[in-house]
Amino acid sequence: MSDRSTPGPGSTPEPGTTSPGYQQLRPKPTGVRELVAPVAGFGVTFSSMFRPTVTEQYPFEKVPTKPRYHGRHQLNRYADGLEKCIGCELCAWACPADAIYVEGSSNAELPDGGHRSPGERYGSVYQINYLRCIFCGLCIEACPTRALTMTNEYELTGPTREGLIWEKEDLLAPLRDGMLAAPHPMVPGTEDTQYYRGEVTGPTPEQVAWVAEHRPDDPTLDAARAAAGQGTATATASSAGTPAAATGTVRS
Ligand code: SF4
Repeated sequence: MSDRSTPGPGSTPEPGTTSPGYQQLRPKPTGVRELVAPVAGFGVTFSSMFRPTVTEQYPFEKVPTKPRYHGRHQLNRYADGLEKCIGCELCAWACPADAIYVEGSSNAELPDGGHRSPGERYGSVYQINYLRCIFCGLCIEACPTRALTMTNEYELTGPTREGLIWEKEDLLAPLRDGMLAAPHPMVPGTEDTQYYRGEVTGPTPEQVAWVAEHRPDDPTLDAARAAAGQGTATATASSAGTPAAATGTVRS
């Protein structure tokens, strides 16, 4: 039988006593230190009162994010206004949260040689479900054309669940001044690879003429006409009508 009068390991000692073998690591305060010990913790509070305030007054004052902050997505355009997305669905396959839905279509189905993106295909349906998205950025890594990037925008709330499924129109980058709204033909004499290499720097007079014929009321026409007329809006890799690959002028 065990001796119940001797406290064993793990047993609760009597009030006012300590367990056998217990050693206090810090010496017990004495004198003035013993007097202020009960309020010593407030020292942290008092010292914080005289430090600069770090509280952010959001949403009244919005502090800029870090440059590489993962905010909402954006579908980018080339300098002539064509969309960079080719509807390949790689972003959707890379998404671990299954938040992206893409449908691709053929540019050949568009009338009169119009294109929404360079090459054969474009993204006809593009949705990101922000109820699922975890902003990991794997979709950005997967995109072969740099069509998909992330902005610094973080205010993604809404009153309905449906409203947080963003459509292609919500995600497409706005047309910058001088860009021509798609659809329209590619820069004459270029191939999709020249677009990917950044060799198209703006709309050409041929593209402007095509849009003027098919959509004479297009609001982007005037600015695009001015940009194309200034001679700054050309494909640098090739002169119009001559495939750059054939002339060997494509930058490597
Ligand atoms: S955003 Fe990029 S990865 Fe996604 S479908 Fe378009 S081209 Fe493909």
